[in-house]
Amino acid sequence: MLKNYLLTPGPTPIPPRVLETMARPIIHHRTPEFQKIIQEVEEDLKYVYQTKNEVLIFAASGTGAMEGSIANLFSPGDKALVVRGGKFGERFGDICKAYGIEFTALDVEWGKAVDPKMIDDVLKKDKKIKAVFTTLCETSTGVSTDVEAIGKIMKNYEAVLVVDAISGLAAIPIKTDEWGIDVAISGSQKGLMIPPGLAFVSVSPKAWQVIEKSTLPKYYFDFKAYKKALGKTDTPFTPAVNLMIALKEALKIIKEEGLDVIFEKHKKMAAAIRSAVKSMGLELFAPEAYSDGVTAVKVPKGIDGEKLVKTMRDKYGVGIAGGQDEMKGKMFRIATMGYITPPDLIVCIATLETVLSEMGYKFQLGSGVVALEEALR
Ligand SMILES: *Cc1c(COP(=O)(O)O)cnc(C)c1O
Repeated sequence: MLKNYLLTPGPTPIPPRVLETMARPIIHHRTPEFQKIIQEVEEDLKYVYQTKNEVLIFAASGTGAMEGSIANLFSPGDKALVVRGGKFGERFGDICKAYGIEFTALDVEWGKAVDPKMIDDVLKKDKKIKAVFTTLCETSTGVSTDVEAIGKIMKNYEAVLVVDAISGLAAIPIKTDEWGIDVAISGSQKGLMIPPGLAFVSVSPKAWQVIEKSTLPKYYFDFKAYKKALGKTDTPFTPAVNLMIALKEALKIIKEEGLDVIFEKHKKMAAAIRSAVKSMGLELFAPEAYSDGVTAVKVPKGIDGEKLVKTMRDKYGVGIAGGQDEMKGKMFRIATMGYITPPDLIVCIATLETVLSEMGYKFQLGSGVVALEEALR
């Protein structure tokens, strides 16, 4: 029998208080009881997003809200700027392609963050760009983007700023209004600590003006329909009732703990992971622009990275993520967000040491755990 530990950047573990709410009998969604849930969830999501904007909720994975942001902002002939520094930045480009929206790609080497000045340079030259797409925490590379700096630049332009905060929200700081984010996208299974199945977008007044004029085809993800329903404390379609109830509880936990306390905790845990892997002679994939929500580590030469992740999971029950696309087999990633706690990290690093030494990697056994404990003290 294996005891399972999940340290992947989505899905993340779910607190028992949240799990328990999902075992309750289903309720109907067109009721005052459910309306109260919508109200509470909406208010608490605004707290997590640090916004006064409406936050729309979809029964979808995060990508649904990414697609929705493109379908709702554009009309045929419009142009976008897409920052591509990993798998998820690339996804925005892929969705633009699917909708026939032309875009300028700002390709950033994986493991590095975009220089906000480069966005300024493109916007200065190309006045046709209507929206800029970037990623707060690029989960595939463990990179964090300076969205605040990008927001400052965007104040000089008409284009709207769209940020994928699917793994960033509630994991690392995001100040939607203060930073000038027009559309902030998120999902349920990362920092918010509930199962996959909900997607979110906050929409600024400036973005609503653009959405009003959009003529691309849309139906399920028509933001205006969700806004209209929200005005009546309702949803346009059947909501994911039990996930909404789980979200209500998860948001309550986040509020009780406080965002600043949560961010400090993640920062300390991520620093401890970085210190642990470095002590084992391993290299960080993003040594400078690292995110405190997920740490990406290079697999050492001569070690099969896919086998490493698989052995940790299948032999020891410890789930970490491997590399994606071009980094498949060459990277592993450990999340520090949500319901992942310092003792989980000790289990994770100790297991990583065990498996790496089983696989023949030469290092001082225990060095990672010692460094981790020292950093966590
Ligand atoms: C997980 C993730 C996504 C994809 O979300 P799904 O819920 O799998 O659709 C997109 N962007 C980022 C940054 C993510 O971490």
